[in-house]
Amino acid sequence: MKATQPDSHGHFGAYGGMFVPETLMEPLNELTRFYKEVRKDPEFKKELQYYLREYVGRPTPLYYAERLTKQLGTAKIYLKREDLCHTGAHKINNSMGQILLAKRMGKKRIIAETGAGQHGVATATVCAMFDMECVIYMGAVDMERQALNVFRMESLGAKVVAVTVGQQTLKEAVNEAMRDWVTNIRSTHYILGSALGSHPYPMMVRDFQSVIGKEARQQILKAEGRLPTGIIACIGGGSNAIGLFHPFIKDDDVRMIGVEAGGFGIEGGMHAARFAEDKIGILQGTKTYVLQDDDGQIALTHSISAGLDYAAVGPEHSLLRDLGRAEYSYVTDEEAVDGFDKLSQWEGILPALESSHAVAWILKNADQFTKDDLLIINVSGRGDKDVMQLAEWKKKNQ
Ligand SMILES: *Cc1c(COP(=O)(O)O)cnc(C)c1O
Repeated sequence: MKATQPDSHGHFGAYGGMFVPETLMEPLNELTRFYKEVRKDPEFKKELQYYLREYVGRPTPLYYAERLTKQLGTAKIYLKREDLCHTGAHKINNSMGQILLAKRMGKKRIIAETGAGQHGVATATVCAMFDMECVIYMGAVDMERQALNVFRMESLGAKVVAVTVGQQTLKEAVNEAMRDWVTNIRSTHYILGSALGSHPYPMMVRDFQSVIGKEARQQILKAEGRLPTGIIACIGGGSNAIGLFHPFIKDDDVRMIGVEAGGFGIEGGMHAARFAEDKIGILQGTKTYVLQDDDGQIALTHSISAGLDYAAVGPEHSLLRDLGRAEYSYVTDEEAVDGFDKLSQWEGILPALESSHAVAWILKNADQFTKDDLLIINVSGRGDKDVMQLAEWKKKNQ
């Protein structure tokens, strides 16, 4: 199959697009035009590569997980170590790309939304580095749950604004960030944190995250002399997954597997497995699979992992799913905790609760594979941020 690309209005097949108020159309069109110029500019590529190498710590290793492989006894498993990026997750690949873009656009002020706080930390980090004013919108409930990340952002010099409307979580934080952007468009760039929202964000964030898959492809060819049988990543908005998948789309024999948050299970609706519910809608600028009730009201979601806890999925995944090019599955909170424990104890790597979903998928599905299979699991982030929450979960559930 050919690699998926959006049309000029950002449609990935029937999905994506620009479902925003009129006042945002012009700034988004301007951003699209500017980005399309800049992405071709060799100077920009060189600058981005420089900072990814010298500051973020790329390339991240592709590590052969010897004990995990032995324990499962089927496929040979490699881990792509995005947890070793500066600030502890893949999010900074995108924040770095976008701040270099903002700098070229002459912007002086950066805004962002954050749920778990990882994107807020990555953005506050690059703002400190490039001396930009930084305002992060965060739901008041999330601020309480993720107090450590609030402290990190503030230490980095960012202003964290508590959003106290609605559920007081990520969805409301996105709305507030968009409102700020409309008002301050001349001075301000909005660094959106996943492959979501209006065009050009799903395309742009994907491009910046594709460094994950480009490196992994070269690294596996070097280590094994062949492409993997399967590549596996967790899916919140879908940026770490599409970053890993995109450079492999044309390799039809490589299975691409996305793992969503199954929460307490699909029955009862306490989860964030958008593809399991199979409903299409529009949320925050994009048309895609969205969790909603029968009246089209956006559903409340649940996951043990704040980074996967969102009602919509990135539009490119919706297309890949309909085309049958990628497969989407889910694991529950309980299975994700098991994934966390196993990778910690077998490999000495504490994965983020988000990444633990991808690990849990292989624990459940190892018997689909044989010793001839070669797999890559994306460890999107490190789990240190999650240990308090895990301790509480274990006290309640074990
Ligand atoms: C934010 C986050 C995710 C989920 O976001 P995607 O856009 O789906 O990648 C996954 N893992 C970690 C560590 C995160 O911080």
